Amino acid sequence: MERYPLYIFDLDGTLYRGNEPIANAADTVRALSESGAKIRYLTNNSGQTRAFFLDKLIRMGFPCEMEAIYTSGVGSASYLAANGLKRVFAIGEPGLVTTLRDHGLEVANAGSDLLTVSAGSESDAVLAGICRHFNYDLMNGAMQRIRAGQPFIATNPDVTYPMEEGRLIPGAGSVVAGIQACSEAEPYVVGKPNPYLIRLILEELGFPPTSALVVGDRVDTDLVSGERAGCPTHLVLTGVTSVPPEGQSFSVDLTGLL
Ligand SMILES: [Mg+2]
Repeated sequence: MERYPLYIFDLDGTLYRGNEPIANAADTVRALSESGAKIRYLTNNSGQTRAFFLDKLIRMGFPCEMEAIYTSGVGSASYLAANGLKRVFAIGEPGLVTTLRDHGLEVANAGSDLLTVSAGSESDAVLAGICRHFNYDLMNGAMQRIRAGQPFIATNPDVTYPMEEGRLIPGAGSVVAGIQACSEAEPYVVGKPNPYLIRLILEELGFPPTSALVVGDRVDTDLVSGERAGCPTHLVLTGVTSVPPEGQSFSVDLTGLL
């Protein structure tokens, strides 16, 4: 098919499923990269760092460097920094705390173990994502701050998170829903379907939207975020979608891009 100067790939269900690389995906991305296209990787996952995904993608044979990886944690850090919100009350995994600190932000409630809850710390904003140590104290800390007028930001809206063999666990959206209920406030959600991260990629590379093909396995997140950014989109059937919507560019797997 038509080649693009830039490809923005979703990860889970597009390049791999859990720890299993999808057949021919790495070879396809490598071929596009070797023909001169820029490659960027975009995931709604906020629980892991860029370094984690770099290691995983390289192990699976994808051409990759740290700057090519965009997570909803990276997007949240960028959004907070751009809005002068330097001290963050963060509800998330240690990977999110590391990502925020890597971007020069202060995490008001995390100690050296990345998890310590200290409800009294000063903060400028509340950020919530997937958090496997979420508890009543964290919820209360977030609620008091949001009710006092601090901005409420969510990493991504996914209510569940897919595990091996189709098993689901609570995702960021479920943690966010709890905080939303008690604080009676709507969060600004950074991850897909918000085009925020796609616009950030385009801005950093200086590319126009029409030069980037956004590729993913989910219509309501991957493809919607691409459309909202003004980019052409392409669906692959290796993840959660088995029937493509009418008129949507698609292929059974990534080899359809060659
Ligand atoms: Mg996916």
